[in-house]
Amino acid sequence: MNSQHTDIAIIGAGPAGATMATLLADRGWRVTVLERSHFPRFAVGESLLPRCMDALAGAGMLQAVENAGYQIKRGVTFSENDRDASFTFDDQFTPGWSWTWQVQRADFDHRLALEAERRGAALRFGQTVASVDFATPGAPQLTIAADDGTRTELAARFVCDASGSARVLPRLLGLDRPGSAPSRAALFTHVADHIDDPDYQRDRILIGIHPEQPDVWYWLIGLADGRASVGMIAPPEWLQAADGPPVDRLRHFLAQEPRLARLLAHAEFDSRVGQTENYAYDIAALHGRDYALLGNAAGFVDPIFSSGVTIALESALRAVEPIDAQLRGAAPDWQTRFEGPIRDGQRVFTRFIAAWYRGALKHVLFNPAPDPAIRTMLSSILAGYVWDTNNPYVAGPERRLDTLCRLCAPASS
Ligand SMILES: Cc1cc2nc3c(=O)[nH]c(=O)nc-3n(C[C@H](O)[C@H](O)[C@H](O)COP(=O)(O)OP(=O)(O)OC[C@H]3O[C@@H](n4cnc5c(N)ncnc54)[C@H](O)[C@@H]3O)c2cc1C
Repeated sequence: MNSQHTDIAIIGAGPAGATMATLLADRGWRVTVLERSHFPRFAVGESLLPRCMDALAGAGMLQAVENAGYQIKRGVTFSENDRDASFTFDDQFTPGWSWTWQVQRADFDHRLALEAERRGAALRFGQTVASVDFATPGAPQLTIAADDGTRTELAARFVCDASGSARVLPRLLGLDRPGSAPSRAALFTHVADHIDDPDYQRDRILIGIHPEQPDVWYWLIGLADGRASVGMIAPPEWLQAADGPPVDRLRHFLAQEPRLARLLAHAEFDSRVGQTENYAYDIAALHGRDYALLGNAAGFVDPIFSSGVTIALESALRAVEPIDAQLRGAAPDWQTRFEGPIRDGQRVFTRFIAAWYRGALKHVLFNPAPDPAIRTMLSSILAGYVWDTNNPYVAGPERRLDTLCRLCAPASS
């Protein structure tokens, strides 16, 4: 078995891994990224949040993606029984970006990975991290299985786990915890949408709520070149009620939401439909002596507010200082500089996700006479500015959102 050396080994070249690799390579470290697939590869999660733009700019990676021609995103529309509630990002409490993109993740992730390589990181595709031995302090040892069956060892000084829902280190180290939310499942694909409705606003994600089943929801994310991402979230047993191949089941359920059914009446569905179930999990600790967990490897709750890539990028930005300091011999305060802020951001989204699935947030979002100031605060959460503690719905306890939900609830509920 070959043995090689690096300063930092990064598991996974998704948005978290590629950003982390770029930031560390910029600081002069030897960085090796191990990625089990070959890019470009399909990934779900096309709807970015404006907060991502700050993160991409902060990592100096904006220019790597800005000429890709992605669909601009300016807001979110929630739709139920043909009634809409729209939020745009130019009407925000937190000063920040008023727009972002809806991206083909295969292309977006590939561009970020190429940028990491251009800035000096070594990327190795088709290499699966099989195990990591942390027995010797400051010298973790990775065992890597290549596509061709060969196994190699890589000696590092530090490991970043950016392996997404594979969560390599949490599983090896026993840090993986089941999520507390009820189990949910997703079905999703891309389509050539052929949408000709002049009222359709391509520059925002459309979230459709099932007319009879309030915890079932759909997304339509317009992409460039007449393509779109469509998908749905539902209790697993609910999705099992339909027969046939996944693409037929997805079409069957989409037909039940009148708005999406109309918009997608002429859509050509890709035959490959992604499925995932029971996708929520928690992680007991986001860092240890010689490792840090980034992006989805640090936990995932639900895609309703498109928060995944935002957290992925943020976790890389927050980890770079403590990693750099530790490798220079200092003892960084990991809790204050990394784990605390990442957990804070996750907590804000989790609070809103819980209110969404209780059905309470819907009344706030669809409130016909909203308080304009509160509306801007909600827009900032929807834009991903969940670290702005001036926003009462960021800094405030659960109680504040609960109170708002109660005030907006119809008299009968
Ligand atoms: C149904 C659904 C819809 C979603 N929609 C959105 C959305 O609209 N917007 C949004 O922001 N987020 C969305 N998300 C979440 C989003 O997909 C993730 O949060 C995001 O991709 C996380 O980025 P990451 O870099 O942490 O991980 P990933 O993008 O998952 O990248 C991890 C990489 O690690 C590699 N890897 C895994 N195991 C190994 C191993 N052993 N060795 C080497 N490499 C390995 C994988 O091949 C992969 O390339 C959605 C999630 C789901 C489930």
